[in-house]
Amino acid sequence: MQRLKSLLKEIDRRGYKSYKRLEGRYHYPHAVLEIDHVQGDPFAEPSRCRLIFSAERLAFPPSFLNLPIRITALEDYIGRSFHAALRRHVRGNRGSGRSGEISFTRLGQQLLQRNAVVISALGCEIRFRLALPADLRRVNSRQAQEMFFEELPQLIASGVDALSAEEDLITAHLNSAEDQESLRQQLRPLGLVAFVANGATLPRESGVSDCPLSGAVPFEAPATLAVTIETPHRGAVTGLGIRQGVTLIVGGGFHGKSTLLHALELGVYNHIPGDGREQVVTDGAACKIRAEDGRAVSGVDITPFINNLPQGIDTRHFSSLNSSGSTSQAANIMEALATGCRTLLLDEDTSASNLLLRDERMQALVRQEQEPITPLVEQITSLSAERGVAVVLVAGGSGAFFRTADTVVMLDHYRCRDVTAEAKALAGEGVDRTFPPLQSTPRLALPHSLSPETEDHRPRIQAVATRLLRYGREEMELTRLEQLVDRGQLLAIGYLIARLERQERPCDLVPALQQQLTQMTAEGLDTLPPYLCGDFAMPRLQELVAVVNRMRQLQLLPNP
Ligand code: ADP
Ligand code: MG
Repeated sequence: MQRLKSLLKEIDRRGYKSYKRLEGRYHYPHAVLEIDHVQGDPFAEPSRCRLIFSAERLAFPPSFLNLPIRITALEDYIGRSFHAALRRHVRGNRGSGRSGEISFTRLGQQLLQRNAVVISALGCEIRFRLALPADLRRVNSRQAQEMFFEELPQLIASGVDALSAEEDLITAHLNSAEDQESLRQQLRPLGLVAFVANGATLPRESGVSDCPLSGAVPFEAPATLAVTIETPHRGAVTGLGIRQGVTLIVGGGFHGKSTLLHALELGVYNHIPGDGREQVVTDGAACKIRAEDGRAVSGVDITPFINNLPQGIDTRHFSSLNSSGSTSQAANIMEALATGCRTLLLDEDTSASNLLLRDERMQALVRQEQEPITPLVEQITSLSAERGVAVVLVAGGSGAFFRTADTVVMLDHYRCRDVTAEAKALAGEGVDRTFPPLQSTPRLALPHSLSPETEDHRPRIQAVATRLLRYGREEMELTRLEQLVDRGQLLAIGYLIARLERQERPCDLVPALQQQLTQMTAEGLDTLPPYLCGDFAMPRLQELVAVVNRMRQLQLLPNP
C-alpha cells in the first residue's frame, strides 16, 4: 500500500499515461489488489483490477464448496455482496470522463456461472473495473488516493469481510441452487419437461423489470396435475408437473397465460432466492419458439412445415435475408431441434398463426396444392408421440389444438385449473401427418465467413447490451432471443463463434459449436478472452447456435 501511495504522489498532475505505472500487485491488510491493465484515457473502458483473498482468510466451511453448483452459487453470492457494497460506498464522478467509477458485472435474477468472482483452492478473486480519476487528462492523485485508501478498504470490509456473519444466508443461497439443479435433473426420469412449485410468484414487476411483482396471486397446481418431488434441502416440493407430450395453456386474455410460459422459458436457469421462480424448473434444453420475421436464415431444411414456395424457392436449404413470420418460425423450430432441444415452448401471441393452424374455411378457399404450409396442428401428435418432442403451447384464440393436446390447463384469474376433459369433449375432427425423423443434416460453414474483423481488419466482439452484439462488421439485434438473459453470455457467445473462424475446413455448425462449448466448459470462461476480466457468463448451446444462425455474414458450403 505504501508503494501505491508514493507512486500516486509521484505521478500527480502528470499526463494520464503515467497511470500505466500502477500496473502490478499491492498488499492490503486483508487482500491483495492486482491492477492488471490501466486504461489509456479517462474516457476509455475503465482499468481492470482484481481483489484476491486467500482461502485461510475467507475460511469457508467445506459444505460451501463440496459441489460445483454450490461453488457457482457461492461466487454469485459474493458477487452480489460486493456489488451491494459498491453501491453503498463508491462515490463515482471524480473528474473527467468516467473518473471515479468502480463497476462490477451486472447481476440479474438468474444465478449463472460467471468469471466475475472466481473461487479456487487458493482462495477467491473478485474482478472489477476502476476508472482512474483525471482532471481533464491529468492524473488526480488526491481522488485516486480516496478510491484506493478509503473506498477499496470499505468494499473489502462490507463486501467480503462481512460474509463471515452471513453463514445462514449463504447456506440458504447455496441450498436453493442445489435444489433447483436437483429438481431439473429429476424432470426426465419422472416423465416431465417442467415443474412449477405451489407458492411460486410468476409475474414480474413490469415489462422492463425482472423482479417479482408484489401482491401477486401465488401459483397453485390443480390437484389432478400436482406432483411431489424430493429435493436435497427443501424436502418434498409439490407443484404442477408438465408432462412429456402436448400441453395447452388456455384462458381469457390477461389471465396470466404468457406469464406462466415466460417463467417456463427462464426455468432453464437457476434463480436467486426471493425471485419467486426459484422452484420453477424446465428441461435445460427447452427452447422458446416464436415468429421472427425479418431474421436471416441460412440453409435450413424447413420442408416439414413449408414446401413449394413461389418461384421454386428451395425449402430443403432455405435461406433468406428477410424471412417471413411463418418461415422464420419454421426455421426456429428446425434449428432448435438440431441442437438437441426436445421441449418447445410457444405462445400464440408471438407465433405466425398460419404456421400453427389452418381452419376449414381457409382450406376451402385456398386449396392444399396452393398452400405451401403444413401447420403445426397437423404434425404435433407425430412430433410428440413419434419424435419425442414435448410442446407447451399457449392458446387464447383457437381450439384447434384441443384434439391433439394431452393436457389442457386453464388460467382463470391467475388460478390454474385442469380442463383437459372439457377441452377433449369439445375437440373436433382433424388430420394427422407424420413428422419426419429428426436426423441432423450437416450445415457446413465457411470459417472465414465467421470472422470477427471489421473493415479495418481489427477484431470487434462487443456485447453492447444483453441482446445487442457487435461482431465484426455486423450489429446484431437479438431482442427476440428471449432466453438470452445476460450480457456476459452474449460476450461468451461472440468469443466462441470467433473460435470457429480458426478452423481450417468448413465445419458442421452445431457439432462444431457444441465442441467449442464443451471445451470451454471444461477449461473455464477465462480461456475465452485474451486478457483477464470478469465480464463473462456461461451461455447455453441453444443461444450460441441461435446467434450464429442469425448472422447475416454466415456462408455455408453450397449444397450438392
Ligand atoms: P395473458 O397471456 O393470459 O393475456 P399475461 O400473462 O400477459 O396474460 O398476464 C396479464 C397481466 O397479469 C400481466 O400484467 C401480468 O403481470 C399479470 N399477472 C400474471 N400472473 C399474475 C399473478 N399470478 N398475480 C398477479 N398478476 C399476474
Ligand atoms: Mg399472452
